[in-house]
Amino acid sequence: MSDADRSRTLLAQQLEGLLAAGVSCLPRADAGRVARWSSAAPAAEETSPAAVAAAAPPAPSSESAAAESAMPRSRNLLDDAGPTDDAAAAAPTLDALQQLVVGCTRCEELAAKRTQTVFGVGNPNARLCFVGEAPGADEDRLGEPFVGRAGQLLNKILEACKLSRDEVYILNVLKCRPPGNRNPEPAESANCRGFFDRQLDLIQPEFICCLGAVAARNLLDTQTAIGKLRGSVHDYRGIKVVCTYHPAYLLRNPAAKGATWEDMKLLMREMGQPVD
Ligand code: SF4
Repeated sequence: MSDADRSRTLLAQQLEGLLAAGVSCLPRADAGRVARWSSAAPAAEETSPAAVAAAAPPAPSSESAAAESAMPRSRNLLDDAGPTDDAAAAAPTLDALQQLVVGCTRCEELAAKRTQTVFGVGNPNARLCFVGEAPGADEDRLGEPFVGRAGQLLNKILEACKLSRDEVYILNVLKCRPPGNRNPEPAESANCRGFFDRQLDLIQPEFICCLGAVAARNLLDTQTAIGKLRGSVHDYRGIKVVCTYHPAYLLRNPAAKGATWEDMKLLMREMGQPVD
């Protein structure tokens, strides 16, 4: 696929996502922004999604131009690489938010190499969310989080807690697979945080279980080791958080399963559903 075809496809995804989210019109990009693009990389920008989006609306009247010039930058719902945090925060449902994620290309490398975005799965009204770091190869292929060997182990952990995947909600901090399963870059996590936070706002869980150091550190904004984060209850925006080892780590280090079971018992006690 040529760069131009890819840009058109991405733009179509972004606009479909905004339509699905209830956005029916977009403000024009400010002239300075377009001009900066033009001088920086004219050939690529002729067909870039934002350039096409900026060119699409009809010329504004002097009244609407004045209104737009008074509009804060944050009101723009489509930036160079797709929906903004404002668009994510305005998504009225999980389905609408997912459509925005599908069209997102904020992390250039991830968007170029992903098979698909991996939004999340489970009960949209769950009391408990499990949070991982990012999709792996199996998740990227199937479009669902925790479906590989680590996912099978997570299913067993859920069973031991007398829970099923349908009762909880499972999501990742990042919606796209980092190539080679590398850890997410801080900038990538920051790019995706608006989607993640809106997802939690819509689900409104009472509890989060962070699976692994990357998710735990990301959520709790700390560099503390997972070994020290586990075993106690933390807080993220009013939601109780318990951290434990990632199932993939448990597959490599079965001796750590006992510690994870202690963490799950702590979590279930907090939820008022103690398990032996
Ligand atoms: S990881 Fe998140 S912010 Fe980055 S491209 Fe994917 S959906 Fe967009």
